[in-house]
Amino acid sequence: MLDLRPTCENCNKPLPPDSVEARICSFECTFCADCVERVLENVCPNCGGNFVPRPIRPANNWRDGNCLGEYPPAKTVRHRPIDAAAHRQFAAAINGIPPEQR
Ligand SMILES: [Zn+2]
Ligand SMILES: [Zn+2]
Repeated sequence: MLDLRPTCENCNKPLPPDSVEARICSFECTFCADCVERVLENVCPNCGGNFVPRPIRPANNWRDGNCLGEYPPAKTVRHRPIDAAAHRQFAAAINGIPPEQR
């Protein structure tokens, strides 16, 4: 199950569970859409993988308690701003490779 981490790792922008701006990699490294597009170039600084929009866990209990109230979001903030210059170098080697071939 996803942690639903509370903020962007790079800029610390709040990303509540209903945010449509949250992006995650397969390890659930979590960033905002702006950072993914403008800074990360769709390359995760931690694993080199790509990002997708984070699914939104329903606030309403539509079925069997599978909702935000029963499974609340993580509270631990992981604010680890990237070194932009170092990331540009890292991303340059990777961002030309389609995610399914990385
Ligand atoms: Zn951000
Ligand atoms: Zn990652």
